[in-house]
Amino acid sequence: YKIKTIEEGLTKIEFPEFDKVSSDAPVFYNPHMELNRDLSILAIQVFQKEQKREINICDLFGGSGIRGIRYKNEIDGVGEISINDISETANHYEKHNIKLNNLEDIEVYQHDASMFLRMKRGEFDVIDIDPFGTPSPFLDSSGYCAKRNSLLCVTATDTSALCGTYKEPCIRKYNAKPYKSEYCHETGIRILAGFVALTLSKYAKCIDVKMSHSTEHYMRLYLEIKKGSKRTDETLNNIGYISHCKNCLHRQTSNGLASSIDAICPVCGEKLIHAGPLWLGPIQNGEFIQKMIEETENKKINSEKEALKLLNKCHDEANAPATFFDIHLICKTLKISAPKFDLILDELKKEGFIAVKTHFKPLGMKTDASIENIKNI
Ligand code: SAM
Repeated sequence: YKIKTIEEGLTKIEFPEFDKVSSDAPVFYNPHMELNRDLSILAIQVFQKEQKREINICDLFGGSGIRGIRYKNEIDGVGEISINDISETANHYEKHNIKLNNLEDIEVYQHDASMFLRMKRGEFDVIDIDPFGTPSPFLDSSGYCAKRNSLLCVTATDTSALCGTYKEPCIRKYNAKPYKSEYCHETGIRILAGFVALTLSKYAKCIDVKMSHSTEHYMRLYLEIKKGSKRTDETLNNIGYISHCKNCLHRQTSNGLASSIDAICPVCGEKLIHAGPLWLGPIQNGEFIQKMIEETENKKINSEKEALKLLNKCHDEANAPATFFDIHLICKTLKISAPKFDLILDELKKEGFIAVKTHFKPLGMKTDASIENIKNI
């Protein structure tokens, strides 16, 4: 193999060179995931500071080892790191890269991810799940392993399933019905969060979403795990459905797994389309995200500009309701050309509504105004 060297943050990594990013590469490395890794460093550092203790981290799908190695190298207050990967070649490069960065307190393991989590119950303060495609098969063992007040970081790259391009894979993997609307990336993140919450609930564990984002080909969740059956029962009230009207663009939510969901759009009388079960609780925590923004000053991250842009938008979304409107789509149904985006936001705010941009889509608007209010404006 010809060896390729890359640098992210303060860390140098080597692995066999390949032509195209693919799961067939001898050791997987995706440069498009640097922002994901940079944000993980910010989120885990904020979590560590909030916990005020040394944290042990599990990098469950190590690949080249870049995550685990960066976490040890670039986050303060980290104790032991466990890097796991089922591939022997990956293990070889993980060990090589640990030496390359002169690091200690990192162990490398070669197990199936679920087996590994079952063996290591309660040993990690942070579990990072970064598989090929869906994290779904590994969430049950994560629920078993995760301890009280720990952080679960979850990546999903099967966005076409979560967004509803194809319905069946979403039903199969997440036991939820997707719907491909203009805000399908948000529905997708909520289906993923809902599935994690439901999977963990059998272990009387629940989630508190600290931050989430949908970027390029993947979705990412940062979840603080809490324990207790009463608490878990309460948070499951956040599971429900989003109902959408294709005709007038009205949408509404209903909490609970109950069977009584409106069938007809209250605005125009058309049939509503339902997506779920999914997470209707908060998917951004403004206070946590503010600390991530501040943490960028202490870290060397190559994606800083992009990270700050994303974090600021996620921060603004924290108090806005679920789903968002696409300005162009609304204007198309009104058969008018689109006014300036900021003008619409200002007018809605003047009338006392929440109106913010969203990281999900450039012309997406989160607001508590109804579709009729927006059309009038
Ligand atoms: N986290 C890495 C990064 O940031 O560059 C990328 C990980 S890559 C997407 C997924 C890795 O999971 C591959 O290295 C693959 O060998 C490993 N893998 C696949 N199935 C696995 C399983 N069942 N258990 C453990 N590792 C697995």
